[in-house]
Formats: sequence, structure tokens, C-alpha cells
Amino acid sequence: MTVTDTYQRPIISLRISITNRCNVNCFYCHHDGILPQKYEMTPDEIHRIAQVARGIGVQKIRLSGGEPLIRDDIVEIVSKISSIGFKDVSITTNGTYLDKYADDLLEAGLNRVNVSLDTLNPETYQFITKKDYLEKAKQGIIRATESDLYPVKLNMVVMKGINHNEIWDMFNFCKETGAILQLIELLKTDNCPDNGFIDDYHYEMNDLEIELADRADKVKTRRFMQDRKKYFVDGGEIEIVKPMDNTQFCKNCTRIRITPEGKLKPCLLRNDNLVDFIEPMRQGKSDEELKKLFLEAIANREPFYDQCH
Ligand code: SAM
Repeated sequence: MTVTDTYQRPIISLRISITNRCNVNCFYCHHDGILPQKYEMTPDEIHRIAQVARGIGVQKIRLSGGEPLIRDDIVEIVSKISSIGFKDVSITTNGTYLDKYADDLLEAGLNRVNVSLDTLNPETYQFITKKDYLEKAKQGIIRATESDLYPVKLNMVVMKGINHNEIWDMFNFCKETGAILQLIELLKTDNCPDNGFIDDYHYEMNDLEIELADRADKVKTRRFMQDRKKYFVDGGEIEIVKPMDNTQFCKNCTRIRITPEGKLKPCLLRNDNLVDFIEPMRQGKSDEELKKLFLEAIANREPFYDQCH
């Protein structure tokens, strides 16, 4: 069974934000559209949420944050979720704890990881994150690619004047390690509300896409992934991720989210249509009643582009 929303979009994936604490401080971070939290959900609570999601046909779980690997109980969380039987369990991480956890996470049932790394230059890393964890992050990526976690994707937010001239270095690093490079267009955030932020740093990737199409042995378009293009170049792979505040993103969105506070979040870029899940769950509601909350959140999925156009 798969539930579809009122715009015929199937809901097949759930992104669970398990914390909004983070050990780096990227100046551009949109915090996944999540409001500050008061507490974190326990592994048992996360497990129950995933179980109810499975019951309405969700097939894929992604853990995110904040930095999900900052939680000491991350292996337990993955183990509990993967015991339910999803097609795919993945994590998005900044990689700084991946060297420590990759093997245990794999054993706990994790299928794959996306690692966010924007630069291979220590000074640029320090400028972006305010930390000097570059070597830890690289080591984490290497460990993940050496393990059976597959695929390992490296997320690089491309910013004009900061790292745009590192794209091919990053591609070579990915080829060496066996990771797939995902180039992400910078999105405006509430942290940096002035338009100058985008004017200063936004890097237009159209020319790069033309170059990639030219150099690629093969190009694939990924349906249900915002029609993203995947280029196979010189024995490596590059994907381009376009900004999310657009109609294509909404049209092809098959994902619902849950905030670290346990609220169902129907749309990435909205905070005015959340559905509380954790309180009813703590009050002892049945699986059937909890399923209804998921269905209510799915019914709330009004395309964001309708709100701003
Ligand atoms: N801590 C984890 C990590 O580093 O991957 C998960 C959370 S982080 C918010 C998830 C992803 O969002 C990262 O790949 C990050 O680069 C991306 N991101 C954050 N702010 C962004 C922005 N303004 N534009 C584009 N991507 C952004």
C-alpha cells in the first residue's frame, strides 16, 4: 500500500531529523527548515514513528539533523529502524564521526550515507564551518567508501568565490575514493535573509551542466528526484541538485519529514502546517490513531510554490 496526496504524489520516504544539534556551524545552513527544539526523541519513539510510517507504505528512511552522528545512541536508532524492514535506510552527515561509526552503522543495518563536504581546502573549510575538522571528514568518507555502505554520496554546496573552482578537485577526490559527487545549488536561508547572500555566493550551474553534458559518456534523468540529471564522466558520477523552492521540486516530492521535536512536517519549506505526533504517541494512542496523524499531515501537503506565487 502506498498513500498518495491530493496532488497524486506517492509518499514513499520519511526524513527523520533526530537532533538539531550540530558540531559544525556552516554559515549558509538552512537547518533543514526546522525550528529550534526543546528535546530529542528517544530511540524507542523514533522506532515507533518508523513503524507507523511503514504501515502507511513508506519505503525509505533517511536520518538527518543537525548532525545525526552527534547522538551517542545513533547505532541503536539505526538498528531499531532497520529491524522494521525498509527498502532503504540512509543518513546525511557531515562525516566527522563517520570514521568512528561507519562499521557499526553498517552492521546495524544502514544501507548508505550522504556526506556533506564543500571543500578540500583547510582554510575554506574553516571559513565555511568555523571548525578545523576537514581531515576527520575526509577520513570518514574514506572509511565509508571502504565499507559496504553503498553508494556514498558527497554533497557539495557550490558557492561563487568560495569553492566553485574546486569542483573538479572534488570530483577527483570522489573518483579516488569511489564516492558520487552531488553538486548542490545554494538556497536562500532564514539565517541570511538579505538578498545579498544569494547575490554574493550563488553559483549558476548552467554552464557547468553544458560542459558535463558534453563530457559525459551517459546522462540519466532521475524521475521522482526532481528530474535531477546524473552525468557519467571519465569513470566517475556527478549529480546536480537544483534549489528546492521551485515547482519541479514540489511536483516530484515524495517525502514527508519529522522534526526533532516529533512533529510531522509535510513540506520542507513550511512550518505552518505541522502535525504533532509525539504527544499523541506519548499519550498512548493506538497505531490506527497514529496512522491517521500521518494521513492528516499528508492531506496538508499544499505545494509550497502555490504559497509564494
Ligand atoms: N549535518 C548533516 C549534514 O551535514 O549533512 C545533515 C544536515 S544538513 C542541514 C543537510 C544538507 O543541507 C547538507 O548537505 C547541507 O550542505 C545542505 N544545506 C544546508 N543549507 C543549505 C543551503 N542554504 N543551500 C543548499 N544546501 C544547504
